Amino acid sequence: MEFSGIDNMRLRTFLFWFLGFSVFIIIYKLNAIESDVEKLRFLKETLSLNKQQLQLTEHQLQLIEHLYQNKVGQGLPIIYAITPTYWRHVQKAELTRVSQTLALVPNIHWIVIEDSEERTELVTNLLNDSKVVYTHLNAKTPPFEKLQKKEERWTKHRGIEQRNAGLQWLRDNLELGRDKGIVYFMDDDNTYSVKLFHEISKVKRVGVWPVGLVGGLNAEAPIVSGGVVTGWKTGWRSNREFATDMAGFAINLNLILEKTNAGFSYKMEHGLLESEFLSYFTTKAELEALADGCTKVYVWHTRTETPTVKGTIPYLEV
Ligand code: UDP
Ligand code: MN
Repeated sequence: MEFSGIDNMRLRTFLFWFLGFSVFIIIYKLNAIESDVEKLRFLKETLSLNKQQLQLTEHQLQLIEHLYQNKVGQGLPIIYAITPTYWRHVQKAELTRVSQTLALVPNIHWIVIEDSEERTELVTNLLNDSKVVYTHLNAKTPPFEKLQKKEERWTKHRGIEQRNAGLQWLRDNLELGRDKGIVYFMDDDNTYSVKLFHEISKVKRVGVWPVGLVGGLNAEAPIVSGGVVTGWKTGWRSNREFATDMAGFAINLNLILEKTNAGFSYKMEHGLLESEFLSYFTTKAELEALADGCTKVYVWHTRTETPTVKGTIPYLEV
């Protein structure tokens, strides 16, 4: 069947108005949404919902998300937060707390690495439900390096395999000169203020700040004199070159991509992971003292008590 000239005209007119109207609705909706985070959410969701029709690959989707993050975050650099995580009864609670903090941070890309043979359904579901741009990986700690029940906590390193896998992902997927960002090691059990991410966004090379509730003190902190870090107030071995906890620093992505051999190792001395890792990138005098010249605490090294679980309800994902 052929369309007559008039039908053709009508169809075109209809399509013209339909497209125009759709664009109008989207623009109207975007303008009506008040906060930037809400806007990001709407756009991210619209794009992921229509990724089939738009024939978007995961990678393209991520690029689009970064572009929007840049817009919404007013040109803020992407913060690549690397989070090792492992199964225990409190895992979902910890990850829920962290993910809901991150949902308030427009410029985040969350890299979650499970300490497991395979990526689990629990973490997959949680990440899907979160409103956060993420990459989901797994890297299992070799059994020999895993902390046994009777062993003291400090006798084994934790999160080595996973943090290295996160670094590897950055080096495999991002390009020096093209991608801009800041890398932060974000354990799943700490407590993070949204303000911390404003500070991380300021990092030029390597930034440091105090960490609350750690090392037997109310906080450990860099000592700053005339804007320069000269040492550390810590509960333990404050003469370490960089006597900071993992939660107390962030590094520019350029440095991570330049120093391809920088990583964590089981051979590193206990308590010196952070110090040895930072030595690849910087000197103490070059450190940027953030959080108001290291006078504010925006992250706490909280540790969750292991609950006594005497039974489980099998059909509940807890
Ligand atoms: N972690 C892990 N596998 C383990 C133990 C710990 O992936 O067997 C992760 C954990 O989820 C956290 C990080 O490594 O994100 C640091 O572990 P933890 O909080 O137990 O160390 P602490 O803060 O007590 O030094
Ligand atoms: Mn911890």
